[in-house]
Amino acid sequence: ATQKLTFDELIRHWAQEKPDAVALEQEGDAITFGELEVRSRQIVSMLASHGVGKGDRIAWLGKNARHYFELFYSAARVGAVMVPIGWRLAPPEIAYILGDTGAKVLFIDEGFDELAAKACGQMDSPPEIIDTPTAKAQIAAASADEFTPAGRDDAILQLYTSGTTGNPKGAVLTNGNLFSLRLPAEEAAQPWSSWDEDEAILICMPCAHIGGTGLGIMAMAAGIRGIVQAEFSPEGVLDGFEQGITRLFIVPAALQMVVQHPRAKTTDMSGVKYVMYGAAPIPLDLLREAVKTIPAAGFLQCYGMTETTGTIAMLPPDDHDLEGNQRMRSAGKAVPGAELKVVDENGDELPLGEVGELICKSPSNMAGYWNLPEATANSLKDGWMYTGDAAYMDEDGYVYIQDRIKDMIISGGENVYPAQVESAIYGHPAVAEVAVIGVPDETWGEAVKACVVPKPGATVEPNDIIAFTRERLAGFKVPKSIDVIDVMPRNASGKILRRELRAPYWEGRDRQVN
Ligand code: ATP
Ligand code: MG
Repeated sequence: ATQKLTFDELIRHWAQEKPDAVALEQEGDAITFGELEVRSRQIVSMLASHGVGKGDRIAWLGKNARHYFELFYSAARVGAVMVPIGWRLAPPEIAYILGDTGAKVLFIDEGFDELAAKACGQMDSPPEIIDTPTAKAQIAAASADEFTPAGRDDAILQLYTSGTTGNPKGAVLTNGNLFSLRLPAEEAAQPWSSWDEDEAILICMPCAHIGGTGLGIMAMAAGIRGIVQAEFSPEGVLDGFEQGITRLFIVPAALQMVVQHPRAKTTDMSGVKYVMYGAAPIPLDLLREAVKTIPAAGFLQCYGMTETTGTIAMLPPDDHDLEGNQRMRSAGKAVPGAELKVVDENGDELPLGEVGELICKSPSNMAGYWNLPEATANSLKDGWMYTGDAAYMDEDGYVYIQDRIKDMIISGGENVYPAQVESAIYGHPAVAEVAVIGVPDETWGEAVKACVVPKPGATVEPNDIIAFTRERLAGFKVPKSIDVIDVMPRNASGKILRRELRAPYWEGRDRQVN
């Protein structure tokens, strides 16, 4: 069978193969593949009546919703570009993204009228706002006409990066970017790339992030039921396990909430086949705890970025071995179809074991950043995506992500990767959360500082944390000082915003970043 590489091809294909199977479901309310084929043609007509066709941007402001995925899949059939916007953003941030994209129409989730009005109120030429009840009524009244389908190289999704290191950037992704790696050739197939008919995949990470929308893409590629939850909650995931979810993707901070939930011990997790996790470094102790808590599941670490349509490296289940296997510290090896290299500042490949910038060549690499030709030229060179992550590779092609190059601390001429120090400090019983940053220091250039959120009821003694770390890490990596803080600043994808923790210490100075 020839590969299906566009939404249009996939929607037609599954409607023919399994018309009565559920495509998407939310709180028990479901749509089958057969219904999706017809409904998406009605959505295409509805979009056309608003002047939306190929190359036009439409936006979604809201939580995860079946309606969002239906809009996205349908727009993609004709090459209109969906821009999901994080609902935790403030009005000026939303206005910025809407203005940047020039979206014609903004679809909003129930309960988002006020936020949408505030954001659009700040714009010179705001988009037309269509709420969910209105959209649904218009879709129901629209005819299911034929149309000209978008091709492989047409843009269909514009996802903004998480904004961890600066302003979010709009990564433009095509049909081909979305599906070329998700549908591996048979000879490259891994056990986890085949699916049982009755599997269900949980979509619980925010749809404005590749970890959310990417799961919808995975469900469509596999022709598998996608179960949509409006937002992540540990209870929702545990309920999902009992209701037949076989796979999910979650970020480490969310995984921690699931495995440490009081109900985790009594929940039947025997049906879980694969737990995919990633998008941020995971502390080793947490990973071990998770593997023990969900023993039936194969664990798959996913490494990737918005710009690579998600996963480009994967750590397979067999490498999650609790007997002190060094591999468990790795983010895995390139997925079939992608290539990884570690290079120096000049882009020359480094010997195995040496830390440099990780770069990736993959059909899933974005077409470019929207409206940012310079940033595009700096990150996409000869088809290679420069990740901005520091990593080394072992002789079997496994990559070990150290941290973001921008977050690396240079203290007394030594390179310190915050993630490694954080991982050590997480082992301390009083520590709930920790972030490590570099602060200006006359002697060392930068000094290592740890910002710690104590566990409820626990007290964190700075000297105790320093002594604890000294037993586990080389002296130059040990924090010189500890800040005890109440709340860890994180963005909507759960990533720690180290730049916010750094800001007060660097006020009025420039932090040198290599
Ligand atoms: P911005 O680019 O706006 O600063 P961001 O890089 O956090 O935000 P994303 O595209 O969501 O936006 O995240 C990609 C980054 O997440 C990677 O470059 C890497 O730093 C980190 N990451 C992803 N997967 C892993 C992983 N398995 N282990 C460690 N870090 C990871
Ligand atoms: Mg990034």
